[in-house]
Amino acid sequence: MEFEILGSGTSHGIPVIGCGCPVCASPDPRDNRYRASGFLRTERNSGVLIDAGPEFRLQALRAGISGLEALLVTHAHADHIHGLDDVRIFTHQRDLPVYASPGVIEEIRERFAYVFKNTQEGGGKPRLELIPVEPGKPFAIGNTGIEATAVPILHGEIGIYGWRLGDSAYLTDCSAIPRESRPLLEGLSTLVIDALRERPHTTHFCFAGAMEEIIKLDPGRAYLTHLCHDFSHEGLTRWIEAWKGGPEIGAEGKRFFGEGKKIEPAYDGLRFTVTTP
Ligand SMILES: [Zn+2]
Ligand SMILES: [Zn+2]
Ligand SMILES: [Zn+2]
Repeated sequence: MEFEILGSGTSHGIPVIGCGCPVCASPDPRDNRYRASGFLRTERNSGVLIDAGPEFRLQALRAGISGLEALLVTHAHADHIHGLDDVRIFTHQRDLPVYASPGVIEEIRERFAYVFKNTQEGGGKPRLELIPVEPGKPFAIGNTGIEATAVPILHGEIGIYGWRLGDSAYLTDCSAIPRESRPLLEGLSTLVIDALRERPHTTHFCFAGAMEEIIKLDPGRAYLTHLCHDFSHEGLTRWIEAWKGGPEIGAEGKRFFGEGKKIEPAYDGLRFTVTTP
C-alpha cells in the first residue's frame, strides 16, 4: 500500500503569510508545505486519512482523493483538525469513522458542536462516527481490515497519539517518546517524525533531537516532518549530511547509516510503501 505525505509543514504552513524569507520565497516546490497530514491509499483513490487540517480540501484535490475509509486523529490542535468540515463530501452515503483518544473526541464534539446538533435536512454537515481508541491496542480500521495502533507520545506536556500502520509509524507533533511506547515502534521500515527546526522547542523535536530518536528507534528509513521556514528542503538535506559527519552521530549513528539507512526531509506529495498485516 502507498502512503502519501499530504502536508509536511508546521502550524503556519510554508510560505508563512506575509513572510519574505528565502524559504517562503523559494521556487523549490518542496518548500511549499501544507499543514501536517498523511494518507494511506487503500484503493486507487480512497484510503485512510491521518488528521484533517485547514488545507484538507486542497490536499485532497492535489492527491486525487475521491473517497475516505476513515480518519485517524493525532490531537486536537487547529492545524490538525480544522479541516474536518470538508470531509463531508465523503459522508453522503455513510458516517465516516473517526478514531481518536477519548479526550480528543470530547474536543471535537465541543469545537464542532454544530455537527452533532439536530438541524434541518440538507444542512451540509459531515456525518462523523466518533470512535474512542485505547492506546497500544491494535484495531481494524473501518471496513478496510487494516490494523492500526495508537502510540502514546508527548507533545510538550500533553499526551497525544502517533499512529502505527503495519511496518510504518507516523509521529507528528512529538517532543518525547515515553519508554512504554517503544515496544509499539519496533521493527519499523518507515518512520515519519516531527522535527520542527534546528533550535530547541518545548513541544516539538528539533533536528538533532529527532535524529537521536530515529537512531534509537532504528527504522529502515525516516522522514522529518512538521517543518518550519527556518530551513529549505535543500538546506535541511545539507544539515543532515553535516550532522552525519559531526561528533553527535556516535557509534549507534555510524552503525545506522553504515547499514544504508536513510534520514531525509519529508515534502508534500512524498510517497512510500507501507506493508500492512
Ligand atoms: Zn501541529
Ligand atoms: Zn518565511
Ligand atoms: Zn500540535
